[in-house]
Amino acid sequence: MEVKTSLLDNMIGVGDMVLLEPLNEDSFIENLRKRFDHNEIYTYIGSVVISMNPYRSLPIFTPEKVEEYLPGLDEAYRSLRDQDKDQCILITGESGAGKTEASKLVMSYVAAVCGKGQEVNKVKEQLLQSNPVLEAFGNAKTVRNDNSSRFGKYMDIEFDFKGDPLGGVISNYLLEKSRVCKQPRGERNFHIFYQLLSGASGDTLTKLKLDRDFSKYNYLSLDSATVNGLDDAASFRTVRNAMQIVGFMEDEVQLVLELVAAVLKLGNIEFKPESRVNGFDESRVKDKNDLKEMCELLGIEQSVLERAFSYRTVEAKMEKVSTTLNVAQAYYARDALAKNLYSRLFSWLVTRINESIKVGLDNSFEQFIINYCNEKLQQIFIELTLREEQEEYVREGIEWTNIEYFNNAIICDLIENNQNGILAMLDEECLRPGTVTDDTFLDKLNTICAEHQHFESRLSKNSKFLTDHSLPHSCFRIQHYAGKVLYRVEGFVDKNNDLLYRDLSQAMYKATHSLMRQLFPEGNPAKVNLKRPLTAGTVLCIKPNDKKAAHIFTDSLVCHQVRYLGLMENVRVRRAGYAFRQPYEPCLERYKMLCKQTWPHWRGPARDGVEVLLTDCSVPAEEFAYGRSKIFIRNPRTLFTLEERRRA
Ligand code: ATP
Ligand code: MG
Repeated sequence: MEVKTSLLDNMIGVGDMVLLEPLNEDSFIENLRKRFDHNEIYTYIGSVVISMNPYRSLPIFTPEKVEEYLPGLDEAYRSLRDQDKDQCILITGESGAGKTEASKLVMSYVAAVCGKGQEVNKVKEQLLQSNPVLEAFGNAKTVRNDNSSRFGKYMDIEFDFKGDPLGGVISNYLLEKSRVCKQPRGERNFHIFYQLLSGASGDTLTKLKLDRDFSKYNYLSLDSATVNGLDDAASFRTVRNAMQIVGFMEDEVQLVLELVAAVLKLGNIEFKPESRVNGFDESRVKDKNDLKEMCELLGIEQSVLERAFSYRTVEAKMEKVSTTLNVAQAYYARDALAKNLYSRLFSWLVTRINESIKVGLDNSFEQFIINYCNEKLQQIFIELTLREEQEEYVREGIEWTNIEYFNNAIICDLIENNQNGILAMLDEECLRPGTVTDDTFLDKLNTICAEHQHFESRLSKNSKFLTDHSLPHSCFRIQHYAGKVLYRVEGFVDKNNDLLYRDLSQAMYKATHSLMRQLFPEGNPAKVNLKRPLTAGTVLCIKPNDKKAAHIFTDSLVCHQVRYLGLMENVRVRRAGYAFRQPYEPCLERYKMLCKQTWPHWRGPARDGVEVLLTDCSVPAEEFAYGRSKIFIRNPRTLFTLEERRRA
């Protein structure tokens, strides 16, 4: 009991909510507040990190320090590097809660801990510098966040066996393109427009036929054109520099800026009605100067574009029919063009960045497994962001056209289905006696997946296993959510066999011969998930106030987030199970002094040592469970007791 009190009285609260006594919403929020007041912005619920936005820079954010404050991150990286386990870090929270900043911290952490060397440094720089570019084009000032991401991002970083980054792939989702033409009160268009006008040299602006004055442009709302604390001109230099590091050629940058300028020009094109004899109004471009300049920028013949703002051609029954556009329709067409132009530019930027940072892998077995992981991650992403985000908009009464999204469950099923999924068939082939080759496996795939396909089509779903006679020899193709991928079947059987004979490698790993153990690292039982790896680390970001200000903690706002993030439920679930888990070695190391048999050295497996230790300390058996590599402790108080005894 004394232990409990001393921990609660602790000024800075408890670092893990699992240890909170008593547990209720008030104590939960009080704990967050205590920690917030003491600059402790991270709090755990087991392995989930809750991050409170401090709205000011704290000295803890140097990459070296991050490790100390985000131990979960360290664990994720180590599992990735030492045990070859893929890691996924999921960051959620509402606008302004700090997701983007958290993701950048994760990236700079990775950059700080992994290898040096010229090649690695270049990859790291490119990965980091993709941020300013994407933020310039995809972020904007909103009422909730001065640097709000107006697109969803999923970033995949690949590492080699040394734990150094090889490269990455960025996927972007749902750019809010309506912002290009119209911004809600108090908000801005995407940063790049203001950055370009403020930061480009006079020379560049002349070439782009632009004027520095924001007020000259219809598409730039004026009520909040400049934002406190945002230096658009300096950001422009940062973005130019970042584009160069990521690998954009000078002329590519020029082309991009020309399109940005063209969007601004397009927004200035205005229309007037011209009455026609039949009584209809037909739209005409009012002042042709912006039209002319836009056409010059893009190399478009002026008369063609002009006509397109007055007429619309539809093809009906082999006949082309021209209808005239009225003024409202012309404006609608103009805005649709601007939105399309900008969002396609954004997608192109992402593709271009990917070209620079992508890893040159051939699509072999490994890539197949990686792509499978990505499918699964996509599924989590869909659930957490697309669905919930959209529901939130609807609930909040924000104008929002529901966006249909593709649910990739069908692709996951094609791969992981226990009976006729690709992995199951591969396992089956590998276990089948007789001559098994990659080609027999492929035959089987072609037969069974094609059957699967017929079955699917009865349910009127599209099959994602693409049977196509134009395929190269020994290949198959899958329609992944991100696109079609061709796989070469060579090596599938062998590589899968490597994984199947895990018992053997585990036996080797158990050898006391130290080199032998090193040669069979995959035999480490902690690595059982190698084949279908998916470990998710989660960061939940919380916004302390609605004022974008430091030091303010608004109870009702925090409480709201705690509720919808389901944090209490999360703690309850964790407490209902085992509150604590720790690998055997460090556990033994920490408490071995409490028992004569384990002090000072325990010779033998750490697991057995822990058992001896706990029995000796007369801790009731139901308080513990022995995991494969970790000890599970049910009640936090047990842990406090052990800690007290250590200190005594
Ligand atoms: P959105 O959903 O709108 O994109 P977000 O969750 O990505 O929001 P951020 O842009 O990461 O939010 O954070 C908003 C602002 O809060 C940042 O611009 C920064 O000023 C501040 N901020 C967030 N996290 C931190 C942090 N760890 N340290 C200091 N300031 C932070
Ligand atoms: Mg963001």
